[in-house]
Amino acid sequence: MQITDNHVVSLTYILKDDNDNILDQSDDGSFCYLHGAGNIIPGLEKALTGKQAGDEMSVSIAPEEGYGIRDDEKMQQVAREMFPPEQDIEAGMQFHAEGPEGQTVVVTVAAIDGDQVTIDGNHPLASVQLNFDVKIMNIRDASSEELEHGHVHGPEGHAHD
Ligand code: ZN
Repeated sequence: MQITDNHVVSLTYILKDDNDNILDQSDDGSFCYLHGAGNIIPGLEKALTGKQAGDEMSVSIAPEEGYGIRDDEKMQQVAREMFPPEQDIEAGMQFHAEGPEGQTVVVTVAAIDGDQVTIDGNHPLASVQLNFDVKIMNIRDASSEELEHGHVHGPEGHAHD
């Protein structure tokens, strides 16, 4: 079976920057996603298309096909009172916010100055060249429910309450 749209793919990966620092890797077991649904960055999805279980590959992905180019317009000052008062706010903290198209975006606290908080809506890996070592473990057909939801269910994927 080859990786094409509407298949559930499980794989292991190590992600490094150009200085060989490990930025991320699959935890115990493998990472699982629905191919063709935009679950993963476009460059990696493209590179995986047509591969088979057991295949291993190294692929280097430019930021344009990864998490995008840093955009200073995504830096924004907001009032401290936008955050829950009981929450400690520190530079480097990350939280989830809703983006312009309703998507979930990761926002990082860049700086705090009195009651002004500077937040950065750039992805932490924006402008980073992404070097993946990937091994494809398994490929299966997606269920109709998974296709409807646009993500993977079951023991390796997420579960609904
Ligand atoms: Zn679901």
